[in-house]
Amino acid sequence: MLKAIYPGSFDPITNGHVDIIKRASAMVDVLVVGVCGNPNKHSLLTPDERVELIKEVTKEIDNVQVMRVEGMMGEFAVEIGAKLIVRGVRDINDFTNEFQRAIINKQLTGDVETIFLAASPENITLSSSSVKEILAFNGKLDMFVPAVVEAKLREKTGREG
Ligand code: ADP
Repeated sequence: MLKAIYPGSFDPITNGHVDIIKRASAMVDVLVVGVCGNPNKHSLLTPDERVELIKEVTKEIDNVQVMRVEGMMGEFAVEIGAKLIVRGVRDINDFTNEFQRAIINKQLTGDVETIFLAASPENITLSSSSVKEILAFNGKLDMFVPAVVEAKLREKTGREG
């Protein structure tokens, strides 16, 4: 059984993440979406809120599980028996960072490989940070995040569209 982990902050999950989840889950038996608490990033949603939203958005994909990642992601991948780490790449900046992380994770885990999926063209400029910026200016979000995510963001911040 081939299990993969797609780790990230998902603060919040965007259409770009959903696209990667759909494509990666079609390649493996089980895809675990791992919600990491990144100490270097100020987060809008709590880890539990992020987990709940991802569960809701992926509920129709049978082989997707959503978990919080406690501690180091590489160690977590080994613990849950994941053989692959999936990452999405939008541009050369992502690639530079992801390439370094992939090498470090390989050194830390031994045999867990990282695979990269190129972002779909409509998502290459989309990020969780841009969604938060648009939200702060009361902008429209419906083309960037699933409806349930937009509703949660507006409820949490009181920002209207
Ligand atoms: P992290 O803090 O780990 O970078 P993110 O939630 O920002 O977490 O992203 C998780 C993963 O999804 C990363 O591999 C990132 O490059 C990828 N990703 C982010 N936005 C998109 C997008 N619009 N299209 C494809 N992949 C994306």
